[in-house]
Amino acid sequence: MRQPVASRLPQRAMFGAAVALALAAPVAEARAETAPPVAIAAHSEVQGRQTRLSFTMQSCVKTEAYLLGAPARAVVDLPEVNFQIDPADGAAAPAPANERRLTAPAAPTAGLIASFRFGRLAPGKSRIVADLTGPAEIVSVACVPIPGAVELTLVLAPSTDSAFKAATRAGARRQALAAAPPPPLTAPLPSDKPVVVIDPGHGGVDSGALGRNHAVEKSIVLDFAKALGAQLSAGGHYRVVFTREDDRFISLGERTRIARRLNAALFVSVHADSLRRADDDVSGATIYTVSDRASDAEAARIAEHENMADSSAGEEIRQDSGDVNDILLDLTRRETRAFSGVFARSLGEYFKVAARLNKNPRRSAGFVVLKSPDVPSVLLELGYLSNARDVADLTSPGWRDKAAAQVAKAIDRFFAEQRPPAAAAALKATQSAGN
Ligand SMILES: [Zn+2]
Repeated sequence: MRQPVASRLPQRAMFGAAVALALAAPVAEARAETAPPVAIAAHSEVQGRQTRLSFTMQSCVKTEAYLLGAPARAVVDLPEVNFQIDPADGAAAPAPANERRLTAPAAPTAGLIASFRFGRLAPGKSRIVADLTGPAEIVSVACVPIPGAVELTLVLAPSTDSAFKAATRAGARRQALAAAPPPPLTAPLPSDKPVVVIDPGHGGVDSGALGRNHAVEKSIVLDFAKALGAQLSAGGHYRVVFTREDDRFISLGERTRIARRLNAALFVSVHADSLRRADDDVSGATIYTVSDRASDAEAARIAEHENMADSSAGEEIRQDSGDVNDILLDLTRRETRAFSGVFARSLGEYFKVAARLNKNPRRSAGFVVLKSPDVPSVLLELGYLSNARDVADLTSPGWRDKAAAQVAKAIDRFFAEQRPPAAAAALKATQSAGN
C-alpha cells in the first residue's frame, strides 16, 4: 500500500537548500515565515493492527485530530499547508478492487483507511480527511524529523462501535466549537443590475472528481467560472458574484445562502463528472435542475455524489430541519423551478454550438445546491473527466472561452425574455399608491 516517494526525493533535498538560503538572506527568511510549509508526499500503510497515514513535509505544524461518524472519518485540522501532492494519491483504489470492496466486507489486512484527501479549508487553514473502513481510535498524531524533511503521521487502531460513537460525538462538538462564526449578513448593495451568482463546485480539501491526465474538477470548474464571469462582466448588464474565487472549501449551504442573501436573479453551478468504471465513451455536457424525484438513475447517482461535498471535506453533517410547509413558499418554489427549466432548455441550445452534449443532456435530481426556493438555479456538468476528448476540451483555454461565451449568451437571452424585475416593482408601487 506504500506509495513510491523516490521520484520526489530531489524536492525533499531542496528543503535543506531553502533553509540555508533563508538563513543567509533576511528577506528570504521573512518570506519563509509567511509562506505555508510545503507537503510533498503522502502514503498510508498497515503495521500490525495499526494503520498509519504519513505526510512528508517541510516543517512541523500544530495539529488537531478527531473522529466523525456517518460516514466514519478521521480528520486532522492544521494551519495552512501547501500540498504539492496529486489528489489521486489518496483516492480509493480504482475498480475493480474498489467495486469488490463495496459488495464484500473489507479484508482485515486492508487497514482502516479506505481513501484520504488533503487541502485548503479556508485562508490560513488546511485539513486532512481519511475515510475509515470501520470503527477506529486515534492512537497518535505526531511529527518527527526524517532526513531532509519531517513526517507528520496519524496512527489509527481498530476500536469498538460504542467507543467510536462516543469519539465521533466529541469530534462533532469539537468541530462545532472551532468553526468560524458565519459571515455577517450584509445588506445587498443597491444595484439596478440583476445579480448572477456563478458557483464553481468543490474547492480546497474537496477536489471533486478526478480524471485522466491529472484532471481535477475543482480547478477545471474554477477556470471555467472565471472565464464565464469575465464574459458576463464585459457586457456590463449584471453584477457578477462568485461563491469562491480561489482554492478553498465552501459548504453547499453557504453557496445557496450567498445567492439568497444577494437576491440573486440566477444561480449557475459549474461541475464536471467522472466515471470510475472503464467505459470512457460516456461524454459531453449535461444540464441539471432540481426535482424531488430524479429523472433517471444516472442523475440520481450524480446528485448523490455532488451532495457528498461537505462530507468529503470532513464536515459534520447536520440534518436539515425539513421543508417549511408554507403555501407562499410552495408557489415561489414552483415558479422558480419553472424559470430554472426555461433557462436550462435555452442553455442546452446555446451550449451545443460550442460543445458536445451528453446523449441525454437535460436531467433533474435532488441537488442540495439548487434548492433555493426563490433563485432560479441550474447546474452545468461540463463533461466527463473519465473521457479523453472531454478532458482535452475542458483543459483547453480556447474551448473554455468559446463555451463560456455560449453560456453568457444563454444568460442574456434568459434576462431579455423575462419581464424586467424593475417593471414588476414599478407595477406594485403603482398599485399600492391607490391608482
Ligand atoms: Zn462536482
